[in-house]
Amino acid sequence: MTERKPGMKRRIPLRKCSGCGEMKPKKELVRVIRTPENEVLLDLTGKKNGRGAYICHDTQCLAKARKSKVLERSLEVSIPAEIYELLNEEMAQEEND
Ligand SMILES: [Zn+2]
Repeated sequence: MTERKPGMKRRIPLRKCSGCGEMKPKKELVRVIRTPENEVLLDLTGKKNGRGAYICHDTQCLAKARKSKVLERSLEVSIPAEIYELLNEEMAQEEND
């Protein structure tokens, strides 16, 4: 639902999900980063350093991104299956909050 009140224009920074490709407010997305040590991990605080890509807080989007290798391309690193499993677990845990 989009309800806009006149005079209440707030600029929300939008980022594109690497899975579904939708533009969403940063807050609703999770950052996947590549650290300087070439580790790929979820940045749930949004404060870690590294090259990052955004993805919905949704394991289905992660699965999509995995299939299309979007994360590999945007992070310029190859991501082994075990890392995807870790990301998936971490994301699934967070979903239960
Ligand atoms: Zn998505």
